[in-house]
Amino acid sequence: MTFSDLGLLPELLRAVAEKGYDTPTPIQAQAIPAVLSGHDVLAGAQTGTGKTAGFVLPILQRLAAGTSASRTPRALVLAPTRELAAQVAESARAYGRHLRLRTFQVFGGVNINPQIAALRAGCDLLVATPGRLLDLAQQRAVDLRSVEVLVLDEADRMLDMGFIPDIRRIIKLLPDRRQNLLFSATYSDEIRALAERLLRDPVSIQVAPRNAPIELVEQRAYRVPKEHKRHLLVHLIRAGDWKQLLVFTRTKHGANRLTQQLEGAGITAAAIHGNKSQGARVRALDMFKRGEITALVATEVAARGLDIKELPHVINYELPNVPEDYVHRIGRTGRAGAEGAAVSLISPDEHGLLRDIERVLKRAVPVLPTPTYAIVETTAHPAHPAPAAGHGSRDSRSPRPGQPARHAGHRGEHREARRGTAAGGHRGGARRGRTH
Ligand code: AMP
Repeated sequence: MTFSDLGLLPELLRAVAEKGYDTPTPIQAQAIPAVLSGHDVLAGAQTGTGKTAGFVLPILQRLAAGTSASRTPRALVLAPTRELAAQVAESARAYGRHLRLRTFQVFGGVNINPQIAALRAGCDLLVATPGRLLDLAQQRAVDLRSVEVLVLDEADRMLDMGFIPDIRRIIKLLPDRRQNLLFSATYSDEIRALAERLLRDPVSIQVAPRNAPIELVEQRAYRVPKEHKRHLLVHLIRAGDWKQLLVFTRTKHGANRLTQQLEGAGITAAAIHGNKSQGARVRALDMFKRGEITALVATEVAARGLDIKELPHVINYELPNVPEDYVHRIGRTGRAGAEGAAVSLISPDEHGLLRDIERVLKRAVPVLPTPTYAIVETTAHPAHPAPAAGHGSRDSRSPRPGQPARHAGHRGEHREARRGTAAGGHRGGARRGRTH
């Protein structure tokens, strides 16, 4: 199967060839003909499967065929995060570079006025996060009455982030007659209900998750007291000569703090999370991709949809509360068949989370002996032996004797993580069903 077998326009085939793709991925092979034929589509596909081209290519073809003189959007993609919206728009511009179509993205966290001006100048394909799009619609800066195709990308994420009421309001602004495409990595009852309401006689497509085979990813874990995680991480980076790692923390505050600590240890690092301006996030991601910074420290939501390929190391600095998020995180290392390592730093309070993850994986995550790492503080303790697995040793910031390490400095972080998750998408209610 080649892209030309899918019935795409020569302009699109040229752009795809220029991107260096020779074979359609399974989601592309199935979604492109279905979308081209005008059907509604329900697709189970994660980021990394090539799903973006799966809907963007046929949408561009449909838009190119249209003769509308209207300057208002004819296709609308709703995405949960700024990063995903920016990446979908970037892909659409790349795939559409030989067509005369205009793609634009809008999301919160940045000044709305340039977006209003750009929309006024005209746009064929609009990629948006729901909250900002509603703001723009309320200000009459965008007219959605010409939308022929609606895409909900990462619909499960949008649902988790409380965007459904916003999406309902947006749908009311669209014409009744339109093509609807729903992409979701997982199918909950709520997603099925949404699909039933939204889609008419859809073609259903299900492709293997991006991170299958998970066997490609080397997983390992180290037991370490919470307050020593940063020291162990610095040791692992230095000892392994790691050049590029994505580190997951639970909270925005935790991401900032770890970034500073890594920088303090002479390891170049940048944080990427919902409180950072869009410009700061894009800059950090670009520098990371170019290899100018070693560690990108991210919260779960900020990292969603990041297009980072063949990542050698993913670090779970803190385990996610939801096992599926672990699977999603570590899948980044195994992309495009490249082998990678996913390393988890497990403090005593996280043993239960590790067991939950192992239950979902249906296999044990190998726990290796914790190597000897140095405690690098501004005061005392130049070097420190590794603690025995599962037992805390103490540095100058450790809790006082009699106060177990597992209670140190973590209160409130779960709460902050939840709040941060919802706020990371600019709006909306709390995530549902995300307790452990
Ligand atoms: P996505 O799931 O859309 O985020 O795509 C994941 C990555 O795969 C992106 O970096 C794409 O550029 C890349 N990609 C998409 N389609 C293909 C293809 N047919 N061959 C090779 N790489 C692709």
